[in-house]
Amino acid sequence: MPQINRSSRILRNLAPWPLKQGLKYLWGAIPLSIRYGPEFRRTLAFLRSSQWWGRRDLEEYQKSRLVEIIVDAYDRVPFYREAFRRAGIRRELIRGPEILNDIPPIDRQVVAAQGTRMIAEGTRRGMIRITTGGTSGERLELVTRKKHRMAEQAFVFDLWGRVGFTQRSKRAVLRGNVVLSDRYRRTWKIDPLRKELLLSSYHLDEGNLALYVDRIKHYWPDYVHCYPSVIVPLARFIEQRGIVGLPPFKAVLASSENTFPGQRELVERVFRCRYFDLYGQSEQVAMAGECEVSGNYHLYPQYGYTELIDARGRRVTEEGGEGEIVATGFINTAMPLIRYRTGDWAVLGKPECSCGRHYPILESIRGRRDQESVVGRSGAVIPLAMGHNASGIYNRVKQYQFRQERPGELRLTLVRDEGYLDADTEAIRRELVGLLGGEVDLVIRFADEIPRTRNGKFVYFVRSHLSPQSKPATSKRFLESV
Ligand SMILES: [Zn+2]
Repeated sequence: MPQINRSSRILRNLAPWPLKQGLKYLWGAIPLSIRYGPEFRRTLAFLRSSQWWGRRDLEEYQKSRLVEIIVDAYDRVPFYREAFRRAGIRRELIRGPEILNDIPPIDRQVVAAQGTRMIAEGTRRGMIRITTGGTSGERLELVTRKKHRMAEQAFVFDLWGRVGFTQRSKRAVLRGNVVLSDRYRRTWKIDPLRKELLLSSYHLDEGNLALYVDRIKHYWPDYVHCYPSVIVPLARFIEQRGIVGLPPFKAVLASSENTFPGQRELVERVFRCRYFDLYGQSEQVAMAGECEVSGNYHLYPQYGYTELIDARGRRVTEEGGEGEIVATGFINTAMPLIRYRTGDWAVLGKPECSCGRHYPILESIRGRRDQESVVGRSGAVIPLAMGHNASGIYNRVKQYQFRQERPGELRLTLVRDEGYLDADTEAIRRELVGLLGGEVDLVIRFADEIPRTRNGKFVYFVRSHLSPQSKPATSKRFLESV
């Protein structure tokens, strides 16, 4: 979509601001499908037509895309060329999904270590670098292209279309943006190009939450697009104050973070609409989104080839089985990732869905941050179900964060909500001590606020020592070139 960039640049260079904003409104009147360019249109049309394909057709499509991606990686990606050669994988052997048995999974450490050797030759033109944040500061630089991002956007629009979203829909956006306009020092702004009301995620104090409610009523968006950790404080605020007169939202569109038990119910109750979650990752290997009929998560077969791999390294094929999402992306051919370990886990759902789509179903998806475990004094690893608030111990807590810096010690920081009592601290302590046994000393402290990461996400567990979690074997031969 070169048009957008050129126009945005022209707009940026123009003064004064009201004129810029006026031009943006004019430009915003042009349909998104035109502004987003041919890759967006092509992908969206393909998704709309292929969503009702039969199982056979989808399998055939996946097979041919998988072969194309792996052959392309063989031809153009230095890391894969070398690794395939060492593993004895010849080009003519790449004929279908069976070849994956010979290709061990890779993870973000491998991608980070390989650096530019992961980038396909000949992708310099239109290349975009993106950096993903990690829970304990490890960062990963990825490379993609504009057209891949536009294709991604088409998947998102297709998914949201299940709950009525169109290119004319207006959104309130609470997604880790830092909005602080230089001119007015405001914590919100309107983007007429994208039809978005952007609300800063770094300013969630009561004064600003009241302002956000006011802005939402004024802008009257059809949807709220959010990180769960940002919409939850707003929902709590609205509920506690008994605020009425909100727009009749069509859905709350969530993504990028885990949704914990209780959060979905709270948001649906307050915003009086469906909470609709999307699962994806910056590495662009797998995407899933909720079904409008059943509430299941459907994996997009057009987006990538996804496997669930259990703790023993075996592929999950039975309904109810749980495994790590390991996927080969079809979208990003600038940095193709084959059998990439996302670190996220899911449960395989039923083979059929009442909506009629033959997309694979995942029952629950838990991001890597949900998988945290605490290391005890003896080195024992104790799983800690993050955000699991079944017993209601965090009901009067605004935010909480665990931090482990050495085995046997765990620190919990709490931001107290209205009505918090000493008895709440006792209940939390009792439950956690019961869970952790005599292995861990728990220290509880209070804070006014817990900061977010650089990209605005909320981290529930911070650790600053080496992760004790076992790493599935990645074939040494395959990685000798690392
Ligand atoms: Zn469905």
